[in-house]
Amino acid sequence: MQPFAYAVAADVGSASRMALDEPGARYLAGGTTLVDLMKLDVEQPTQLIDITRLPLADVTLFPDGVLRIGAMVRNSDLAHHELVRTRFPVLSQAVLAGASGQVRNMATTAGNLLQRTRCPYFRDTATACNKRDPGSGCSAIGGYNRGHAVLGTSASCIATHPSDMAVALVALDASVHVAGAGGEGERVIPLSDLHRLPGDQPERETTLEAGELITAVDIPPLPYGPRSLYLKVRDRASFAFALTSAAVALDIADGTIRDARVALGGVATKPWRSPEAEAALRGKPASMASYRAAAAAALAGAVPREHNAFKIELARRTLIRALLRLENR
Ligand code: SF4
Repeated sequence: MQPFAYAVAADVGSASRMALDEPGARYLAGGTTLVDLMKLDVEQPTQLIDITRLPLADVTLFPDGVLRIGAMVRNSDLAHHELVRTRFPVLSQAVLAGASGQVRNMATTAGNLLQRTRCPYFRDTATACNKRDPGSGCSAIGGYNRGHAVLGTSASCIATHPSDMAVALVALDASVHVAGAGGEGERVIPLSDLHRLPGDQPERETTLEAGELITAVDIPPLPYGPRSLYLKVRDRASFAFALTSAAVALDIADGTIRDARVALGGVATKPWRSPEAEAALRGKPASMASYRAAAAAALAGAVPREHNAFKIELARRTLIRALLRLENR
């Protein structure tokens, strides 16, 4: 691990100004990704800005029905929060499907969104990786790519986004509050626009600007949110990243799907909302035929590599099973 400076931020503005002044700085929250990557020399920050004492750990329900989750809310607290469990079970289930109890006790909401890929080549400094070392090449494309993405990939990178929570949040139309660089102003980014596709710059993972700090995540009201579900398929029952996952919500009346939300995890380079699947469900009978059509639409653009073609069929089946389970609730 490289030497680094350490400072505790007193408020959002000073945190952001410190980050802006020091290009090699990183925010430190739960540390569950960053510290691992520092030990591996993948991340080499010159300064850590500890933001754990910022007052960003509340979950607030506003009169208009928006649920605001502070950036520092720990994953365990989020998953077990009464408002989350009852209004958005898909989010509670997604968070509980990730990592372990100990990690969830440390990991934060914003940190979860900004966690970095688990591509093994990214974490191994002896190999070429465009995301870690731009222009060096991608070891995964011609290498072992069983865990890699089939949607949203590029000729430069096929790394899967690892978050479960972000898949549920993108299905829920969440947005992210961001404090401006240097503490000036604030902007709101739809979560679907926070993560970038890799394109030819896989090292640029989000649309955040230098020094910007996520302060909260908003979830707008969703009347059928209680009928939502997260289903994750993985190699072992706990502490494993998704091979495939589906975050779904259904509004069914008299056997007809009035509205639907669909997002996929484990198969894409960013949390993957599927408007194609949602369009295939809307106005259709709540039936196996409709679910099959939605699954086909969701994976229509998938591009398999040597070892991960199985994910396409697995993702279809994951989505169909998730929709069937919801129908029967
Ligand atoms: Fe690096 Fe992306 Fe290729 Fe993995 S898939 S080796 S993260 S460039």
